[in-house]
Amino acid sequence: MTAILGYVDLLDRVGPVNDQQREFIHRVQVSVESITALVNDLLELGRIEAGFDGQKEVVPLEGIIRYSLETMNGQISDKHLNLHLNLPADIPQMRGNPIRLRQMLDNLIGNAIKYTPEDGDITIEVEVQSEQIILRITDNGPGIPPSDQPHIFEKFYRASNVPKGVGGSGLGLAIVKSIIDSHHGRIWVESLLGKGSTFTIVLPLYQQEIAKIN
Ligand code: ADP
Repeated sequence: MTAILGYVDLLDRVGPVNDQQREFIHRVQVSVESITALVNDLLELGRIEAGFDGQKEVVPLEGIIRYSLETMNGQISDKHLNLHLNLPADIPQMRGNPIRLRQMLDNLIGNAIKYTPEDGDITIEVEVQSEQIILRITDNGPGIPPSDQPHIFEKFYRASNVPKGVGGSGLGLAIVKSIIDSHHGRIWVESLLGKGSTFTIVLPLYQQEIAKIN
């Protein structure tokens, strides 16, 4: 894939390219990039499911949420989305894999951004209970039909109402589910067609995780 992209990049440097050729080059680039993303997602899912990166450390969840949002700032402002962040003052540290937790947030927040139309609202809230952290990501996008809801965490599944032109492989939520499983957590969706969706994630806190291991 890297070689294909490299040579495609070189095309307009070795001679003049007309507008139509430039458009075709652009389409090749977009297609190769989406195949690369698909292959990467498949490899990642394989690694998570195989349990190759089960090592956990103490992670600052708030920092991870803010970092994930920072990288998506551009997309949020491009679509004029209103972001509501509702974080309690002291989110306790939890035990987990920071790279995977970041990937989980990227996929969930990325979906909220991708599926919510311009000027929409996205709310991210965290609630801390005695033994667990509850994270909710809510949008007022298209929602998910009830008959599709039980399947959206399956590999390659895309709901029947995916808006035209909104791309995806149907692997993002399968990756999210595997990451949450490997952290002994739970995820579910509540959604109303035409109104929006809320993804709720429950993750055990550090202490409870230790108790489980012992
Ligand atoms: P995709 O690559 O298609 O986005 P995902 O595995 O991330 O795949 O999600 C599976 C399906 O769940 C999506 O194709 C879409 O139909 C639905 N979905 C996920 N998140 C949302 C959301 N925030 N709003 C509406 N539909 C969603």
